[in-house]
Amino acid sequence: MQVIWDQNKCSHAGVCVRSLPNVFKVVDGQFVIDTAKAIEDEVVSVVNQCPSGALQVLK
Ligand code: SF4
Repeated sequence: MQVIWDQNKCSHAGVCVRSLPNVFKVVDGQFVIDTAKAIEDEVVSVVNQCPSGALQVLK
């Protein structure tokens, strides 16, 4: 599973990084998504909570 992030849509609300900090994180100033750090259902749940629709799951 892969999650893509649309920088132009992201409102930096921080829902993703607060919910799953091991998956959604900023490393060296870059936003990184490591889907291997949580189970798939958890990742999908957070993607669906993104208030701006900036996250999308690719199966
Ligand atoms: S939850 Fe969505 S809007 Fe908020 S920081 Fe993450 S990607 Fe951006």
